[in-house]
Amino acid sequence: MTVAAPPAPAVASDITLRDFWIDVIRRLEPKVQRGLFITWFRNTTVLGKEEGNLVVGLPLPMFLNWHMEHYRAITLQEAQELDPSIRQIVYKVDVGLKDNPERSIDILQLFPEHKRRKLPGKQEVKLAEGIVSKILNPRYQLDNFIVGPSNRLAHAACQAVASQPGGKYNPLFLYGGVGLGKTHLLQATGNAILKQIPKATVVYLTTEEFTNHVIEAIQHQKMEGLRRRYRQVDVLIIDDVQFLARTERTQEEFFHTFNALYEEHKQIIISADRPPQELQIEDRLTSRFARGMIADVALPDYETRLAILIEKAAEYEIFLDMTVLQFIAEHTTKNIRELEGILMQAVALYELEQRMPTVKSIAEIMRKLSKDPYAADVPTGFETPEKRKATFQEILEAVSRYYSVSVQDMLGQSRVREILFPRQIAMYLGKKHLVMSYVRLGEVFSGRDHTTVMNAVEKIEERMQNDPQLLREIHAMEQECGFVKNA
Ligand code: ADP
Ligand code: MG
Repeated sequence: MTVAAPPAPAVASDITLRDFWIDVIRRLEPKVQRGLFITWFRNTTVLGKEEGNLVVGLPLPMFLNWHMEHYRAITLQEAQELDPSIRQIVYKVDVGLKDNPERSIDILQLFPEHKRRKLPGKQEVKLAEGIVSKILNPRYQLDNFIVGPSNRLAHAACQAVASQPGGKYNPLFLYGGVGLGKTHLLQATGNAILKQIPKATVVYLTTEEFTNHVIEAIQHQKMEGLRRRYRQVDVLIIDDVQFLARTERTQEEFFHTFNALYEEHKQIIISADRPPQELQIEDRLTSRFARGMIADVALPDYETRLAILIEKAAEYEIFLDMTVLQFIAEHTTKNIRELEGILMQAVALYELEQRMPTVKSIAEIMRKLSKDPYAADVPTGFETPEKRKATFQEILEAVSRYYSVSVQDMLGQSRVREILFPRQIAMYLGKKHLVMSYVRLGEVFSGRDHTTVMNAVEKIEERMQNDPQLLREIHAMEQECGFVKNA
């Protein structure tokens, strides 16, 4: 539909402006990475549209720079598509927009997650007549993949393949659990090959997409054509081949394509969630897969997880406190996708509420995502080695990290609530776990009277009776200190 342009009223009503804005960002959504989209377009709106100026309202001052630098050009472009009379975007901060769905937009409701998830799957490019590939995500590069013992071999193999496609490591077969970086490595290898040989025909497809092409060809009796076309491919990358199970015709086709490409020294790269011999597919295919290089991708160790976090945090331009990053790295133990999810929540907290995430707020986020490592009924799937029990100094440090107060303040004289409360917790933990006497504890805390300590411990015990949140927090710190084992 073309937009006939009747002269726009000088001042449009708030509702039409808001709807116009929704139309604009609907067009922006597929172009902006999801986390960033949610973060930066939440609580925005259009405040005015006059004389060629589109006045975009932002909820916080910190949005201003970011929008000007990152989104001004694409916003203008999309707005002009809808209304060619717009000449420029002008930003205006209006704090009244924050969490006010009547004025600004409720982004999560308008753009629920599932819609976006499907979108990238459809983004295919046509490389030659009848050859399509999914678009390679430019975020996936070999040099932004953090290497550690769990993925070193896989990464090295990808590098070798990238520098000499169709060489020694053919086929390359990567396997490992979900969210550990297989797709990243596969696409990064494709990206690296294209960088060196821009003319190469690099096809990247999920097994599901490959299967769909085969089924389509069967339906239209175009199998011959499909085979011929795939033979022109220089690099064939197929993700998640465990889904080949129970697809006889596809397996058959894959076998022929594989052989044809292999014989011509074309590179084949495959991933799966398990090693070749455990795939439920034809033996002749399994043995083809096992012919080249096989490397597994496992859960990165703590140091590698921390390095990944630092890298991702920098990508999102958020600079979190090291103790916070350490806490996330320590407690996200299933996969890297989970780790990224928690980081994104931290970014949102930081950007939207202007709150610097603390260990405490991250623990809260994890609880909400039911990833709470402390909630007794949620197994973490991760076994920490039996911890040595903490010393009193370590208790103090754990409490200090958890509530973001310094050890010095806790031991000192201040009576402000922010310090008083953590101090009482430290006293409680010392009494409970280290069997320190009230008198001794009083001495440690700047020579306080033993009755003060007694009162503090009692107070905490009392509060724990009917404050489940506090109970959880204490449990968290006890776990940090090795007093209780993981659930
Ligand atoms: P898989 O395909 O194995 O399920 P993905 O490749 O989709 O996993 O990885 C999930 C997310 O974790 C991606 O955003 C990816 O960039 C990131 N990731 C995983 N491992 C690493 C790593 N070692 N360095 C950097 N990012 C990683
Ligand atoms: Mg994957």
